[in-house]
Amino acid sequence: MPAPLPEALEKKLAARLRYYEDLGIHQFYKYHVVAASVADAIAEAPAVVQLSPAAPKIFHEEPPLPKQTPRPQPVGPGFGLASSTAPSAPVLPPRAAGPSLFDAVNKIAGDTLLKVREDLGDCTRCKLHKTRKNIVFADGNPKAELVFVGEGPGADEDAQGLPFVGRAGKLLNQMIEAMGLRRQDVYICNVVKCRPPENRLPERDEIEKCSPFLLRQLDTIAPKVIVCLGACAAQTLLETNRGISQFRGQWLDFRGHKLMATYHPAYLLRNPSAKAEVWKDLQKVMAVLGLELKKGKSA
Ligand code: URA
Repeated sequence: MPAPLPEALEKKLAARLRYYEDLGIHQFYKYHVVAASVADAIAEAPAVVQLSPAAPKIFHEEPPLPKQTPRPQPVGPGFGLASSTAPSAPVLPPRAAGPSLFDAVNKIAGDTLLKVREDLGDCTRCKLHKTRKNIVFADGNPKAELVFVGEGPGADEDAQGLPFVGRAGKLLNQMIEAMGLRRQDVYICNVVKCRPPENRLPERDEIEKCSPFLLRQLDTIAPKVIVCLGACAAQTLLETNRGISQFRGQWLDFRGHKLMATYHPAYLLRNPSAKAEVWKDLQKVMAVLGLELKKGKSA
């Protein structure tokens, strides 16, 4: 068995891989044939698809990086869309072995967001409490038909105690407005409610401690549609380690709710050409919510 990597190096590598993912460079690992067939099934399925909770096996082989060929994209709306390059197959760390975070959890009868917040309390369940300034519970309409789930608070959110109030939040607001909604019409929350230091990815134990509260929020609101912003939210709710590019833009199921995964606004800030892909995803959400495209905003 190979010797384990030093922790600092492992963290650096994880950060670097995430950076590549954000850039749309994904193919560092080859997926097991089972994973490929699941991906094919999803690509062909017309309606809501249930992702298999079983984590695909990943071969740690490094094929050459894919050539990224630009592809013409539709022009999008007011959040500054341009043409896009096609995202390719993903690379993500394998899901840690363990029981499902959600499968066995029943909806709590009579639960309310207030009770969820009270039960969360001045949370010290994971190490993130040591460095946070504020718990970032959520923002928006408790009766929303549309819920956005992000990854975790950044510095601005930590300072203000509200999700998506920094640069990525401004872009999210524009996306919401492009859909013909206002921020106060939707509900916005995150996988973890405390800022991971230096904006690193939330770790498995932190997600495990925090996700019961997210689950209760989602069960209580019971939205028509959940939009996962970025790989962390999508992989957490779908309990998969498959890369978001494989299932982004597909209708999936989360405990009976329609779920759409799309790219994170922070990714769009670094990679504006992906906005067209996101706009396509949001238009699918709009169709399900019965929202009409404003005049002058092309499909
Ligand atoms: N990114 C997130 O994922 N969530 C926030 O609240 C802010 C930035």
